[in-house]
Amino acid sequence: MARVDVDFDRCEGHGVCEETAPAIFRLDDEGELQVLVEDVPAQLVAQAEAGARVCPVAAIRVHRDASA
Ligand code: SF4
Repeated sequence: MARVDVDFDRCEGHGVCEETAPAIFRLDDEGELQVLVEDVPAQLVAQAEAGARVCPVAAIRVHRDASA
């Protein structure tokens, strides 16, 4: 398990996180980022981390649950 935090003040709506991790992130019709899964199950943690890595403004943090 992991938890996704997005700094919405930093997010500029580039949407590359959505391209990389469409199960986790989605831009709505207004270009606002939606986090579809805040508590990320184990099978999606790698995708969430990949999405965080590609964000050009480093607005995404993925906190892995130490017990997972
Ligand atoms: S890649 Fe970063 S800046 Fe772009 S929508 Fe995702 S969180 Fe926002």
